[in-house]
Amino acid sequence: MPGNGKKKAQVYQRREVPRDQHNVSRSVISEPAKKVLSRLNNAGYEAYLVGGGVRDILLGKRPKDFDIATNATPEEVHDLFRNSRLIGRRFRIVHVVFGREVIEVTTFRGNAAEADNDNTDDDRKTSEHGLLLRDNVYGNQEEDALRRDFTVNALYYCIRNFTVVDFANGIEDLRNQQLRLIGDPETRYREDPVRMLRAIRFAAKLGFDIEPETEAPIQALSQLLTHIPPARLFEEVLKLFSAGHGEATYNLLTRYNLLAPLFPETVRAIEAGESDELIRQALRNTDARIAQGKSVTPYFLFAAMLWPALQKEWRQRQDNGDPVQPALHGAIGKVIGRQVQATSIPKRFSGPMKEIWELQMRLPRRQGKRAFVTMSHPRFRAAYDFLLVREDCGEIEPGLGDWWTEFQRLDERGQERMLSELSNDAPKKRRRRKPVKRPAP
Ligand code: ATP
Ligand code: MG
Repeated sequence: MPGNGKKKAQVYQRREVPRDQHNVSRSVISEPAKKVLSRLNNAGYEAYLVGGGVRDILLGKRPKDFDIATNATPEEVHDLFRNSRLIGRRFRIVHVVFGREVIEVTTFRGNAAEADNDNTDDDRKTSEHGLLLRDNVYGNQEEDALRRDFTVNALYYCIRNFTVVDFANGIEDLRNQQLRLIGDPETRYREDPVRMLRAIRFAAKLGFDIEPETEAPIQALSQLLTHIPPARLFEEVLKLFSAGHGEATYNLLTRYNLLAPLFPETVRAIEAGESDELIRQALRNTDARIAQGKSVTPYFLFAAMLWPALQKEWRQRQDNGDPVQPALHGAIGKVIGRQVQATSIPKRFSGPMKEIWELQMRLPRRQGKRAFVTMSHPRFRAAYDFLLVREDCGEIEPGLGDWWTEFQRLDERGQERMLSELSNDAPKKRRRRKPVKRPAP
């Protein structure tokens, strides 16, 4: 039953902002994006820069990528560009590929709100929850604008006459730094619950407020995200945490009940008293890395996001009498098994994530050849970084991280010396655990 609680329909008016009244200049648009726009125009089609590209330029930011909307069908676009491929997920879109830059070209889509009533066509379907299952009805530019998510994402830039076209008061919301859904918020969230995550992502990234009517339904509807395929949610989680505002994003997700559908076990563990300080510290580090232009690996991120759940499960198993190592393995299996029901974790990431966790047990054990073996592990560096985060957030006593920092810096002789000092100091330095049975040095 989509559309319950429908409010008065907003009335929007098309506005054109001429070139001398906005700061979009052709020079900030990438060459590939310009190439696609002009070739489409020259072939007689309408084509506009749209979405984040226009929004971010208007805000004086560097766009992450450039999206283009056109009245050419996907096949027509594909025919025009040899370097393009048709992508058919929920929407049929075209990717035009220029080396590492991909320009996403979408055909104008039909108006979401009206099609529910008068379109029984197979191309546009909603589920019983109002979820949009397919959305392949083509439309004109205005309809295309009104089926976009936020008003600030529905601005079009035309490279022919240099105007910005605004169908939904996006310019005004941009000026007021507000995220406002186009249309009735509840209906729009039901159509696609991922829009709730997009609200959080843009709020954190742009420092915008979520306008009150857009904000109001989120908490109550957050569980709708459990209807979204785990693979899509995995992609959204990466976008949420790798935009350089991970900590702010985490706080907003928590505030709006949106962490639970993404990381149910983590939320359960935190509610049961586990600390989330490691998550926060890891996200702070991630944000700093991104600010320095470094990359973030999904497996590190997931290792951190699931750590409270792992800790809880691991401890429970030890309390039930499992020895520490089998308890860890059992906990890892269980935590991952549950997580992939919410977000998928592709094997190429879940493997390294497990290794980061397992190495946490090996990092303290350095005697003999062990330190060398551990250091040659392909995941050593990530595990060492993870150890530093654990120390930074006070989960473990400081010291071990510095030891490894020094050990990596030294040559083999220095390393041997560190190891022999370690054996001499061992009884004192060890944390209060069972004394280790070892012949006296
Ligand atoms: P960025 O690329 O910086 O993350 P963006 O706004 O460009 O932000 P994209 O995911 O690239 O986001 O999508 C491009 C545009 O497509 C959006 O600006 C919006 O107009 C539209 N769009 C994307 N996802 C949705 C959605 N779930 N519902 C409605 N419109 C959407
Ligand atoms: Mg984009």
